[in-house]
Amino acid sequence: MEVELTAPNGKKWTQPLGLFINNEFVKSNNDSKIVSINPVTEEEICSVFAATPDDVDLAVNAARNAFKDPSWKSLSGTERGALMSKLADLVAENAETLATIECLDNGKPYATALSENVPEVVNVLRYYAGYADKNFGQVIDVGPAKFAYTVKEPLGVCGQIIPWNYPLDMAAWKLGPALCCGNTVVLKLAEQTPLSMLYLAKLIKEAGFPPGVVNVINGYGREAGAALVQHPKVDKIAFTGSTTTGKEIMKMAAGTMKNITLETGGKSPLIVFEDADMELAATWSHGGIMSNQGQICTATSRILIHEAIYDSFVERFKAKVQEISVIGDPFEKSTFQGPQVTKAQYERVLGFIKAGKEEGATLMLGGEPAPQQGKGFFIAPTVFANVKPTMKIFQEEIFGPCVALVSFKTEEEAVELANDSAYGLGAALFTKDLVRAHRVAREIEAGMVWINSSNDSDFRIPFGGVKQSGIGRELGEAGLSAYYNIKSIHVNMAA
Ligand code: ADP
Repeated sequence: MEVELTAPNGKKWTQPLGLFINNEFVKSNNDSKIVSINPVTEEEICSVFAATPDDVDLAVNAARNAFKDPSWKSLSGTERGALMSKLADLVAENAETLATIECLDNGKPYATALSENVPEVVNVLRYYAGYADKNFGQVIDVGPAKFAYTVKEPLGVCGQIIPWNYPLDMAAWKLGPALCCGNTVVLKLAEQTPLSMLYLAKLIKEAGFPPGVVNVINGYGREAGAALVQHPKVDKIAFTGSTTTGKEIMKMAAGTMKNITLETGGKSPLIVFEDADMELAATWSHGGIMSNQGQICTATSRILIHEAIYDSFVERFKAKVQEISVIGDPFEKSTFQGPQVTKAQYERVLGFIKAGKEEGATLMLGGEPAPQQGKGFFIAPTVFANVKPTMKIFQEEIFGPCVALVSFKTEEEAVELANDSAYGLGAALFTKDLVRAHRVAREIEAGMVWINSSNDSDFRIPFGGVKQSGIGRELGEAGLSAYYNIKSIHVNMAA
């Protein structure tokens, strides 16, 4: 049920392998397993148990019972907040182990996992812990004959399905508001990156959460994920992942009319106007697409550049990529870019690069695998210029270190290009003209706009998309509303 592991940085830990149900690690009912691969060496790290639909049923029943049990149901918001704060403290205490596991399993740089990803978990848990006793209804004055008020009630059992690009953070984004509001959870991890959240599950028990409040399972999407989405005792599904899977989930959830929140794909534009601070724009443009190996739903993967500064910006951007995007072992301090998460993703990204070349875009940088010591799912940061809106690399989400550069003539054309997408997640724009900045921010079809930055997300600010980028919001106060019902109570005061 567990295995002793040692990472290349010398860190040792006991890795749980089971399904975390009712605060215990258990086997799957048919002993089926998922192999987790180290994307640097292409070798097996270990195998974890994979939930079958029967195991999902077990986890859902555990969550259902916990939802009704006084040990959770009767807690005040203040007490729930205290449990969440305790969990945040334990995450902070275990930061190095969690960052090590994230790096090993996902391939992201250890330094980033330690300085950004683990702190994000702590911040999100503390933020929603603070809200747990400050999220209540209203008294609505309709005159002396009636006393009316609303109560915010938890939804019940929340099925939460997360992707592999930010395993710890995506879990925190979902657990934080769900627990704050008094729900119980069955969290299904991505089959590609099962390890870090299984370790964190141990901390959930240690923090003192009653059994069944948080259940953490691994399993394949089509099997465990689909069983969770269709389970009649699940009240809500929160999903982060691809738009294609999001659509399937929406259809499956319709069977029992579940409350859903979807955070799906993106093809976010970044506009550089002719008056922009070029150094600032080039720096954020680089981070906006090349961070996390390009595996970010909000990655600004289409850079739209005013024709007057096109050549000079492209040169500056290229220089940034060459200077900052150091590829290598993610445990090395100097590494900016590790491998893609899996062989399948690596091949998918290379497929898009091939399409870019075939469709006639100009390859400025990269465009090929970049194995380290002959191994690993590494891809050279890739820059395509002279991209046309009809091209695949302009329209489709690549989810890798590959960017499309396009030139425009007018503000109107820039907005048109920015909105020429089925997606509407993030958008960035660079200009020193304050009025234009706000005007364009309103015109862009996106859930989030960054002015003079990119992917500058913050746990206190709502995150989510429009169009085919999703439904609902996570983070901030807005993130809470995905996890409660408003009940209206009318009291007749008349004789
Ligand atoms: P990717 O294609 O990058 O792996 P997905 O959107 O398919 O992204 O996966 C995101 C999450 O959704 C993962 O946890 C995965 O297991 C889950 N998933 C995939 N397919 C389904 C499905 N049909 N039903 C429920 N969950 C699914």
